[in-house]
Amino acid sequence: MLFSQDIGIDLGTANTLVSVKGKGIIIREPSVVALDVRMTPPKVVAVGEEAKRMIGRTPGSITAVRPLKDGVISDFNMTSDMLRAFVRKAMAGNPIARVRVMITIPSSVTEVERKAVHDAAKNAGARYVSLIEEPMAAAIGAGLPVAEATGSMIVDIGGGTCEVAVISLGDIVTSRSIRMAGDKFDEAIIAYVRRKYNLLIGERTAEDLKLSIGSAYPYAGEGKVTVRGRNLLDSLPKNVEISAEDIREALEDPLTQIVETVRTTLEKTPPELASDIVDRGIILSGGGALLRGLDKLIAKEVGITVKIAKNPLDCVAAGTAVCLEKDNLHIGGKRNG
Ligand code: ADP
Ligand code: MG
Repeated sequence: MLFSQDIGIDLGTANTLVSVKGKGIIIREPSVVALDVRMTPPKVVAVGEEAKRMIGRTPGSITAVRPLKDGVISDFNMTSDMLRAFVRKAMAGNPIARVRVMITIPSSVTEVERKAVHDAAKNAGARYVSLIEEPMAAAIGAGLPVAEATGSMIVDIGGGTCEVAVISLGDIVTSRSIRMAGDKFDEAIIAYVRRKYNLLIGERTAEDLKLSIGSAYPYAGEGKVTVRGRNLLDSLPKNVEISAEDIREALEDPLTQIVETVRTTLEKTPPELASDIVDRGIILSGGGALLRGLDKLIAKEVGITVKIAKNPLDCVAAGTAVCLEKDNLHIGGKRNG
């Protein structure tokens, strides 16, 4: 006998999460594809965690690619291949006749970008595809009362985009999406270390610095870490001690842009909903929500309480899972066949 299966996909720039109806979130993997470049066209040899592990540990013929950039698909075939592998894994070898996929898109993407996500899900084996906007999924996953006649504000900061949205009565009332998030934080750290210490560091090192000592606001027990990079003056390896304050300075400009986006979204929010937000607070989700003191910084700058969602990295995927359980594949008024 053949079954039908409903699957939710949070297609993120940094991580892809898959939920299966009745089981919840079952896959959390980096959005990475490893390719054997000796083949034409290059052959996919691994996806997700396995692909990420291969970076730097394989012969030069294998390279790792991130098929999404700034929240949108930058390599369509790679994205389709990656999704197909995840969908297969989610179905655990069961023969499924009809797969319905609910997949996420950032809130302000072009028609072409939206269609690319839809088509990639189809290529991955979905018979039927519905799209849900990330902030809506994040708000549902964070447990906000999206269906009620009250304003909720969600700020989702991922690898590629920062999405700010006000939701009421099951729909997005106002939203802003900027291509300023975790990846740009890492780039800002690279640029800062280069400028201040004449040291060239890689993306992984920059992300490690952000995770280990990074912050948006001063915190107790700030430490220092020694990083190794290439001295730009003589091209030799060099060690430099980087402080938490360095990272905060590096992140100042990107964080200002995020704060400004929250502020302008609030300014565009109808007064009644804005007062609900003042009462209930702003909710942060996505991996960026875990940056130390980001809640404090936003709260101080906009004068509203800020709370971090429980399991911020899971919110968007959890939101799709809730929709699947309720058999509600058309939330937020968007219909896509
Ligand atoms: P996406 O939805 O774009 O795939 P995620 O919500 O999965 O993104 O978040 C990934 C981003 O969050 C990455 O840029 C990662 O560096 C960042 N991140 C994860 N944990 C932390 C942390 N503890 N502090 C700061 N940034 C973090
Ligand atoms: Mg995300």
